[in-house]
Amino acid sequence: MVKFLDLKAINEQYQVEISDAINSVLNSGWYIKGSAVSSFENNFAKYCGTKHCIGVANGLDALILIFRALIIQDKLQEGDEVIVPANTYIASILALTENKLKPILVEPDPVTFNLNLEGIRSKLTSNTKAILSVHLYGQLAEDVSGFCKEHDLLLIEDAAQAHGAKNKEGKKAGNFGIAAGFSFYPGKNLGALGDAGAVTTNDKDLAELIQQLGNYGSEKKYHNSLQGLNSRLDEMQAAILDVKLKYLDKEIIKRREAATYYQQNIENPKIKLPQWDSEVKDHVFHLYVIRCTERDQLQQYLNDKGIQTVIHYPIPPHKQEAFSEWNQLSYPLTEQIHDEVLSLPLSPIISREEQDQVVKALNSY
Ligand SMILES: *Cc1c(COP(=O)(O)O)cnc(C)c1O
Repeated sequence: MVKFLDLKAINEQYQVEISDAINSVLNSGWYIKGSAVSSFENNFAKYCGTKHCIGVANGLDALILIFRALIIQDKLQEGDEVIVPANTYIASILALTENKLKPILVEPDPVTFNLNLEGIRSKLTSNTKAILSVHLYGQLAEDVSGFCKEHDLLLIEDAAQAHGAKNKEGKKAGNFGIAAGFSFYPGKNLGALGDAGAVTTNDKDLAELIQQLGNYGSEKKYHNSLQGLNSRLDEMQAAILDVKLKYLDKEIIKRREAATYYQQNIENPKIKLPQWDSEVKDHVFHLYVIRCTERDQLQQYLNDKGIQTVIHYPIPPHKQEAFSEWNQLSYPLTEQIHDEVLSLPLSPIISREEQDQVVKALNSY
């Protein structure tokens, strides 16, 4: 059996250190807003190359808090249009609707599946005030920061799948816009043992505001100057993340090696491989996603051979029941992507033998 992602085995690599971290939080008697959270915030900011990092409860909250803060700062207003890729995970969209902003869905680039300038231009209106760019599958989206400056648009990154992804100048996800949302959901490249997330930004005022909003809108305990929410990273998850952050770069290298091995060995005209340009940027391979017009049959075929795969994602946001007002809209490329994509087993601990099994099965399909 080749597992899609063996989280238990991934975390067991660090069992001793993780147990020590948990014990030290347990013994500290301090479980919220303590030294483990500030240590991780400092280390993750340093890792991303940003001035600030604010730990929050999860990736969705990270994005919600960014937009909430921008509205409080009067940089955005309810009803403003925000361009977002139509093929993203639902969380990107919910961060907007939660703040009464208007998501403008845009078809992605057919090669990278990320937003590109052409798509942005096609939906730009005088009501467009921001762009939420998603670094899907761990590949940096086209850098549109220059375009945003020129058109007076805010750029926000959904970096939930892209910890450590960088361009050739070494600029990492989290630095391209005014702020970025990260997720540490267990299956992400940097995963907690539960829910966790963070915002990174180079803007001090925004950092302070988001910190305050995520802690009931209070600057000082029991003094609430804003109507905030409770979205805090807890000490336990922060301590665990601090351990795992030390190994993130090594794990990214292993993911990239595994992806390259698939790329060099899968040969089947029915299967389209992902494309990336390693001369231009460092993909971190949260997911290795192939395409096949007979995707469901292929998935069944692999399953029969003991190979677990996952579809990211089976239904695009505009076809979801939760957004029935968009169900009639047509996004042919996005719909085709959702019909054809299949994510292969990939992790820092996948063995060559397991990969060979996957390759052999795919080549014999
Ligand atoms: C995982 C993910 C999120 C949300 O993160 P949670 O921690 O699950 O709330 C947001 N956007 C994208 C692209 C994601 O993959």
